[in-house]
Amino acid sequence: MRRPDPRRAKVHFNYTVAEAALLFDVHRNTVRNWTRTGLRTFRAGKAILILGEELRRYLTDRRAERRTACPPGSMYCLRCRAPRTPAQGMVEAVSVTQTTVNLRGLCDDCEGFMHRRASLARLEEIGFGWVCVHAATAEPSR
Ligand SMILES: [Zn+2]
Repeated sequence: MRRPDPRRAKVHFNYTVAEAALLFDVHRNTVRNWTRTGLRTFRAGKAILILGEELRRYLTDRRAERRTACPPGSMYCLRCRAPRTPAQGMVEAVSVTQTTVNLRGLCDDCEGFMHRRASLARLEEIGFGWVCVHAATAEPSR
């Protein structure tokens, strides 16, 4: 998988989903997926925009996340900057593609949102075999 270079985003620019996709040479759905896994957007009139600074932050955080191996049953918490166990064993799983899901839980430590992308086939192996996977909800019109 390609690793988008966070430095491509200009700190003082705003990007639409389409512009960010062009910038990082990824599909628009990839950028939409980023917005579901911690990339913050804001609304300007009818447009959904992403701050260049925020794109940098998100992609830099994701790199840190990839460098840290999460033990089974844990997810990487961006706030704690460490793998954490989801609070009360509550995890939401939403399918992204036929074969991958996004897991979301609350950090046991700081109560921040945590995400983990996982292959459906490996859910058992990474300690989330028990979660029930929901189909992604219809894309809000953007
Ligand atoms: Zn945390």
